[in-house]
Formats: sequence, structure tokens, C-alpha cells
Amino acid sequence: MVEIEMEADVETFAFQAEINQLLSLIINTFYSNKEIFLRELISNASDALDKIRFESLTDPSKLESQPELCIRIIPDKVKKTLTIFDTGVGMTKAELVNNLGTIARSGTKEFMEALQAGADVSMIGQFGVGFYSAYLVAEKVLVVTKHNDDDQYVWESQAGGSFTVTRDVNGEPLGRGTKVILYLKEDQLDFLDERKLKELVKKHSEFISYPIYLWVEKTVEKEISDDEDDAGEGNNTEEGDVEEVDEDKDKEGKPKKKQVKKVVHEWELLNKQKPIWLRKPEEVSKEEYCTFYKSLTNDWEDPLAWKHFTVEGQLEFKSILFLPKRAPFDLFDTRKKPNNIKLYVRRVFIMDNCEELMPEYLGFVKGVVDSDDLPLNISREMLQQNKILKVIRKNLVKKCLEMFNEVAENKEEYTKFYEAFSKNLKLGIHEDSQNRAKLADLLRYYSTKSTDEMTSFKDYVTRMKEGQKNIYYITGESKKAVENSPFLERLKKKGYEVLFMVEPIDEYAVGQLKEYDGKKLVSVTKERLQLEDESEEEKKQREEKKKSFENLCKKTKEILGDRVEKVVVSDRVVDSPCVLVTGEYGWTANMERIMKAQALRDNSMGAYMSSKKTMEINPDNPIVEELRKRVETDENDKSVKDLVLLLYETALLSSGFSLDDPNRFAGRIHRMLKLGLSIDEDDDPELVDDVDMPPSEENKVEESQMEEVD
Ligand code: ADP
Repeated sequence: MVEIEMEADVETFAFQAEINQLLSLIINTFYSNKEIFLRELISNASDALDKIRFESLTDPSKLESQPELCIRIIPDKVKKTLTIFDTGVGMTKAELVNNLGTIARSGTKEFMEALQAGADVSMIGQFGVGFYSAYLVAEKVLVVTKHNDDDQYVWESQAGGSFTVTRDVNGEPLGRGTKVILYLKEDQLDFLDERKLKELVKKHSEFISYPIYLWVEKTVEKEISDDEDDAGEGNNTEEGDVEEVDEDKDKEGKPKKKQVKKVVHEWELLNKQKPIWLRKPEEVSKEEYCTFYKSLTNDWEDPLAWKHFTVEGQLEFKSILFLPKRAPFDLFDTRKKPNNIKLYVRRVFIMDNCEELMPEYLGFVKGVVDSDDLPLNISREMLQQNKILKVIRKNLVKKCLEMFNEVAENKEEYTKFYEAFSKNLKLGIHEDSQNRAKLADLLRYYSTKSTDEMTSFKDYVTRMKEGQKNIYYITGESKKAVENSPFLERLKKKGYEVLFMVEPIDEYAVGQLKEYDGKKLVSVTKERLQLEDESEEEKKQREEKKKSFENLCKKTKEILGDRVEKVVVSDRVVDSPCVLVTGEYGWTANMERIMKAQALRDNSMGAYMSSKKTMEINPDNPIVEELRKRVETDENDKSVKDLVLLLYETALLSSGFSLDDPNRFAGRIHRMLKLGLSIDEDDDPELVDDVDMPPSEENKVEESQMEEVD
């Protein structure tokens, strides 16, 4: 009767395709670092315990099913199994099916790619698929689990594409929690060895904040009298086989007492340390910080830096903050938990994704905070308006910035840090107005005077010319794209340093920053760039020269029509014939590029923001001078139109814009080539027509959009 019921309860599921691939990879590839499976399973156990503890803060009755919170490890040499048993939250049947096999986790694919690119299997925990590392050492895995809201279930799989889930009617009731039973492969029986297990827990899981017990075997010698009942040993020990019996005989030869060697089992506590953050920093070794960091984060590398501190006064808390060496693969994945600070209240774990503790841009900093002031039964809702939390957050941000500044003292380390997290700092500039100035100190850029090494605003300021009031920068797609930009010509010649801002986020950050140390940040590609060191005489000469180019400017504007807002004589170009600049408050060419690449942007906004280009012509350039002469002698010189269009299109490219119609541009270039090669133009009548081209289709669209916006 029972058996039939059991069989009816067995359900078979196929592993989701990517998980299946991952399992094959784990089983069929040789990895030497198999021991990490234990760390992963203990870490899952600890997470499950965190969850039930958190739930019990608001509803203590949730612990009734199993009041003790701990992890137990049971090696069984006879059955060749290793069991990891936690009294955590457990899983309902649905969770069991989803979490362990049918729903792909976002990191599955990334992890396989990382593995194939030579990553170590120990990174598995970072990708959220740690459970499957069980198959590094086990040929079969059983997961027995009991959640408060459901019956007890058994998950079973030997990999190979599928797993089964069965309602556990006959098994020993767990109360609450999860038992992972590993049937070890023949060549992995080492993992049943006590010494090895102790060593592994010490190495990888020492700082787990729940007791971890190991079921150990001991041989004890004991004297017992014949008739002694030796059953009541206390429930922490279990007696095994009697190994040897020595009989002590009295004078009469009658046995009085027995000397007995017995194998007994008992639970041995493996993690005896008090929480590391409660200890004094000078008493904690570097190794201990690193081990703690690894157990906290699943990272396989040591942290780049850390800060261990206590805040005292009207509010008290202890904290350790860690700076990882690398950005995680999903740093800017918004679906992910927002940050990585574990919150404790008087040593009791409360939660690990408390959004109120750190601003989003510092989401890469990991660590713990242990507060003496928060109530233990704090709920998420309460946290949101909690004043204490706001003060803690302020302090944490301050300490983070201090930590970054400390790292900055070592150039090599700072370069690593900056490569990984500069985007976060820039996001911080955008979001955190209070700390904007401090964050600005942490930024680094290449510049016209610092091409091999990035430089800070602070260093830039020390190199500023006498009388220089502004800090100049150029934005663009890459260092290469900006370093020879025509916009830099006159500034370079005059000795002004220009910073290269070549990440998309720079556009946003600099838009917020506006100034550093009282000096205005000025884009060299925008209108109204005025250099500061011109003498009165120079200014006068320049004005006169400008006048002589007025006709050419007028003619050029006529030819280009709505493509440009206006045509003026430039103050900034030295070699190139002309550049296209954008309005002081509109988008730069770089921003236009970024916005065009954003699929969901609003088109009308694009037309509005990107429409204001000004063409600046260089009066000292021989091509421009030649054009001026032609316009002065014959206003209707046909060649002028062709040349102006070509100049305009070339300037689009060299100023960082894209061409609306690359084919027409190519056509014009080909015609120039023919001219250069003395091939008769009349052979190709089609191209002659091209000279009188109407505004392109795209321009028409832009015009109508402009009207809509207005
Ligand atoms: P991660 O733990 O990084 O989320 P895993 O592959 O290790 O990824 O585990 C997948 C999920 O299975 C976990 O998120 C958790 O919901 C569940 N799980 C794993 N082990 C346990 C456990 N011992 N108790 C309760 N739930 C567990």
C-alpha cells in the first residue's frame, strides 16, 4: 500500500539545457580543485539559515519546527556518503524543482564561458550555480528538504539529463532544513577523512556564523563493571562497536570490572572563533581578513584592500569593508541584489541586501556591519525610514572614499582598481552630490600632456598655465579618436592641457561635475571656446581677419543650408581647414553617437539636441584662404559649392559625427580622385548632377521633427 503511494509520488524532470551542459562540463572535465564543493554546500546551508533567521525576527513561531540553527557534516565510510545537513529554511517542492534544475540561473552560461576561457572551477559560487559543484566529487546526489510550508521531499539525480522529486513519506523527518547526501565517486573517498574535512572547513568556511559540527569517531577506553548499563551517554555521543575487552580479575579470578575500548561518535564544533569584526584590527592577521572575505563573498581571490573600524558616540557600530580586485560579471545587472553589505544587530545576522546601507554606485564594496542600536526585530519597511541606518550609510560612504584614497597612494594598485570601478565612481559623481568633490579627486584621465599614464584633476591643476582659469577636456569614442582631433590644435600649440574623456559615462559625469576646485570644466568641442591669454593686439588682428572672411562665411552657410546653424571664423583650429562644434548646452558629437546607439531613445529629442552645429573655419588654412579668394572674385564660382560640401562632410568625420549619407560623400571623393588623376569628368555625367544636391532625406526628417518639438 505504502509502496504504491511512494511510486505514484515520483516525478521525473529534465534539467534545463544550460544546466545540463554545465553538469556535463563538471563531470567530464578534469579539475584539480575539487574540494571547493564543500565550501559551496556550506555556503548554501549558511544562506538557508540566514533566511529562516530573518523570517523568525518578525515571526518567532517559524523556528518552532526546529529551534537549533546549525550545520552538521556527517561522513559515512560504510555507505561512502558525505552528508551536509542544515536546519535552514528548506525548500518547498516548487522551489526544489526550480532552484535545482529547471530554471536557468543568469550565471550558468557566463560560468561555462569563463571555464572554457581557462577560469578556475572554484569561481562557481560567484556565478550562482555552486550547488552543482557537488558533482565534482559525487556520482549521485540526494537532497532531502523540509520547508515550513510544505511536506518533506527528496530530490535525486545522477546527472545524465534528469532528476526526480519524491514526497518523502518514509524518511526520517528533518523538522526543517536540508540534507545534501553525496554518494562519493570511488576516487574521492578522501573526503570522508576527518582530518581532511576539518582542514577544509578551517580553510574555506571558518567564518560561517552558524556552528558547524562534524560527526567524529573516537576510541575511548573505559572501565565498566559487569552489570553497568552503559546506554545513557547523553545525546551528543553515540556508542559504536566494542573493539577490545580486557578483563580485570580479582583474586578469586572472578571478573569484577571490564577495561573496554570503544568506538564512539560525537559532534565536534569546527568553527570556534568569535566574529572577526568584534576583534581588534591589530589582532587580526592579513590571512584571516582574506579568508573571511572569501567566505563572505565567494570570491576566489584576495581583496585589493579593506577597512576595519568602529564608530562610537551617539551611535555605535562595527564594520569591515572590502574592496574586491575585479568587478563581478554582473556589476551593472539591475536584476541583481543591489549590494553586498551584511547587516548584523548585536551579532545576529539580519539581512544581506539592505539597500539602505550603501548607495548604488558603491554596490561593489562588500562587507559586514554590526549595529548596537537597531532593534533586533527590524523589518524591511522599518529600515527604509530608519534614521540610524542613514547615519550608518553616511559613515560607510565616508570610509569607502577613505579606502579608495588609501589605494590611490599605490599607483599600480590604483590602476587595477580604476580599471574595474571607474564607471562606479563616475556614476557616483552623477548621483551623490554631497561627495561629488571627493569623488572628482579619484578620477583619472589621459590628456595631451599625460599620454602614457592617467592623470588626476589635482595634477592637472598644478600644470595649469599662468592665468589659466578653466580645465579643458574633450569627449570622444577612444583615446585614439580624440588625441589628434582638430579641436586640440590651438590649445596644444599654446600649451594648454586637455583631458581625454573617452567613456560614454564621462559625458554624464562631466555634465554634473561642471567644475573642480573652483575651475570651470570646459569642453573644447563646444561653442564659445575662448582662450584666455590673448593680448589686445592679437585680438584686434584676429577681429580684422575675421571681417575679411565674412563673405565666405555667408556663402558657406548658404550652401550648407540647414545642415549647420551658422558658420564662423574659428579661434581654436590651427592646421585643419574647419571643425563642427556643438552648442554650449546641446549634445557633443560624442553624446550624439552615444544617443544614436541607444535603441529606445526618443527621436524628437535627438533632433532637438543634436541639431545645433556650428561650422568654424580656420582663416590660416590655405584651402580656406583659396576659397575666400574665389568667393571674393566670383560669387557664383561653381567649384566653391562642391568644395564646401566636401569640407563639411570631412569635418563631420574629424569632429566625431557620423555621415548622414556616406555614398554621396564617397561619390564626391571619387570625383576628386579623378580630378587628381586627370580623368575627364564628362565621362561620368551622373556625378556632375550630384553637385546640386538637395538637402538629404534625413535632413528633411530632422526639419519636420524640429517643428514638432517647437
Ligand atoms: P546560489 O546559492 O548561488 O544561489 P546554488 O546553485 O548554489 O546557487 O543554489 C541554487 C538555489 O538552491 C539557491 O539559491 C537556494 O534557493 C537553493 N538552495 C541550495 N542549497 C540550499 C539549502 N541548503 N537550503 C535551502 N535552499 C538551498
